[in-house]
Amino acid sequence: MNGARNLFETLVLASGNRGKYAEFLALLPRGVTGKLLFAPDVACVPEVEETGETYAMNAILKARAWALISGLPSLADDSGLEAEALGWRPGVRSARAVEGSDADRNRWLLSQMEGQENRRARFVAVVALSAPSSEGELLWTLAAEGVCEGRLAEREAGTGGFGYDPLFIPDGYDVSFAELPLTVKNQISHRAKALQNLFAQNWIP
Ligand code: IMP
Repeated sequence: MNGARNLFETLVLASGNRGKYAEFLALLPRGVTGKLLFAPDVACVPEVEETGETYAMNAILKARAWALISGLPSLADDSGLEAEALGWRPGVRSARAVEGSDADRNRWLLSQMEGQENRRARFVAVVALSAPSSEGELLWTLAAEGVCEGRLAEREAGTGGFGYDPLFIPDGYDVSFAELPLTVKNQISHRAKALQNLFAQNWIP
């Protein structure tokens, strides 16, 4: 990652989630890209359907789809929250655990966890990066995983972040992700670790 030039002039973030976009803007290591585009600003297309059974399948699906749509290297993540007491659910189905908003899903998760003594939980993310050729065909795709261990709070706390952040207390802290500054979340999050693992690979052409 040395040298004055970026690996990619422009990257597309293959997501319609502004919370994730804000995190990736801060998380991408220096030297990766000069510009990170938010997918809805690049093309108005329906969201890529997450039909995969694993985070990796869905992240790769989204990164490949956006590399083909935009003709630009595209970065995607698929992530979820896993609670031990719920058999590590909702996992890959975290975004679709119940219809509605993040607030609805947080209420649902609290109701599922009612009376549970075991509050162990973890966030998992897989990031995938897919590059097209100048002819618009897929050239290569790489993926890596990151995990952030923690526990689920008894009630929501904090207004930062997105999704299940108000309920997740990372190990080593006694406040939720939604109460921590983004700079702290970005040092320890599943997404930060997945990106570190992606760029630690010995793959740069
Ligand atoms: P997807 O990766 O877009 O399928 O979304 C995964 C689901 O997990 C969504 O409901 C997100 O809100 C949630 N999620 C993933 N990462 C985070 C995070 O860092 N904080 C809070 N919720 C998250």
